[in-house]
Amino acid sequence: MPTLEARNLVKNFTLRSGLKTSTLQAVKDVSFTIEAGKTIALVGESGSGKSTIARMLMKLETPTSGEIHINGALSGTRGKALADYRSEVQMVFQDPFASLNPFHTIFHHLERPLRIHHPELNKAQVRQRALELLERVRLTPAENFADRRPHELSGGQRQRVAIARALAPGARFIVADEPVSMLDVSIRLGVLNLLADLQREDNLGVLYITHDLATARHFSDEIMVLYHGDVVERGPSDEVILNPQHDYTKTLLEAAPEPENMGQLRDQVRHELAGA
Ligand code: ADP
Ligand code: MG
Repeated sequence: MPTLEARNLVKNFTLRSGLKTSTLQAVKDVSFTIEAGKTIALVGESGSGKSTIARMLMKLETPTSGEIHINGALSGTRGKALADYRSEVQMVFQDPFASLNPFHTIFHHLERPLRIHHPELNKAQVRQRALELLERVRLTPAENFADRRPHELSGGQRQRVAIARALAPGARFIVADEPVSMLDVSIRLGVLNLLADLQREDNLGVLYITHDLATARHFSDEIMVLYHGDVVERGPSDEVILNPQHDYTKTLLEAAPEPENMGQLRDQVRHELAGA
């Protein structure tokens, strides 16, 4: 079975101020396995190390120690091995404004990964595949979106493009780093529901990074709670939410909105989408 596995990931940053240096332990010793078809939520407050874990998984940051295994084998860090890894593991970033290039069309953003990871496709097939991806993320009619530039799209539409781009290589694992926290509250659930639909359709493994316990519970099989770079609690989502063991999880829960409201909010969004 396809798996993405973090083994004992550690990341220390060296901080310099004037002549003094100190070490910040951003991620202490974190291990987990994401299986195909499963969503794991990584929950924690700002600064707890969530994005550092995401960046290590994406190989944008080198771990101080620890390993990342893909489908049971140690993952590559360079050249073809890295390209192969990236065709399996893709990321959706927090900021849909920064993650797309304002000078390029939407089509260009999808064309690049398609060409890199599917060199067998000819020009017409690449175009066709890009349009299919836009349809999959419900940006329709796809032809209308393909030749626009990012600034002509809303934040939610841009994040859908970012999701389509992540799917373009044929990725089986998606790391979504607070994918909706910069979006308008009213469209967040639409984007999360889309991710959940794609996850089911493609049997993707997803690491859903968030500081929102309600959506973590709703959209994930398991929750890991990160506190100062340590996973302090983990388990099936309902268990962690309904019967938290660690004080930090309890604090997070007290600060969170009522999970019960999630269903209502979701129905409301479905209703709005159906009407739109
Ligand atoms: P989160 O995504 O949970 O908000 P981050 O992973 O971004 O947390 O950051 C974890 C900690 O590591 C923070 O204290 C942050 O300031 C620090 N950090 C992140 N990246 C760097 C870096 N490149 N250099 C120094 N410190 C960093
Ligand atoms: Mg972050």
